[in-house]
Amino acid sequence: MAGFGVLWRVLNVIRWTKFFYCTNCMRPYCQSETKTGEFVVTQPNGTGTHAIYCVNCSKNLVSIRTLIAPLIIGIGALCFTLVCLVFAISTNDIVMWNVVKFCPWFGALFLWLFHREKSTYKPIYDRWVMKHGTDPDKWPDANKPK
Ligand SMILES: [Zn+2]
Repeated sequence: MAGFGVLWRVLNVIRWTKFFYCTNCMRPYCQSETKTGEFVVTQPNGTGTHAIYCVNCSKNLVSIRTLIAPLIIGIGALCFTLVCLVFAISTNDIVMWNVVKFCPWFGALFLWLFHREKSTYKPIYDRWVMKHGTDPDKWPDANKPK
């Protein structure tokens, strides 16, 4: 049952990251309800992404999908630390011990980044689904601009 609970929590994390958040309207939006703006170059090689705007107030929306990266890096670093700890204990290798000392901070930094963003946007989602349910099809429509 514990394994199922963890899986359920992971699925929950993935579900709320599917949406775009407007900190002005305090609500999540499905991608179909957003307004795509101009192309923004984010990489030196010319690739980038389209800016996404709120249809209600035209504020730049935040995509939470990018949040998954620090979460995975953070968990990965902590798992890596555990593996290195096993090696460090069995081989008493100084390099391994240094990794064990350094890696958790690295992992914690990324988990902190994730947590900081999560505590900004997750409450918006929680409040929203408490009012309107978890099914995006039943959410009230965004006010279309006149
Ligand atoms: Zn808005």
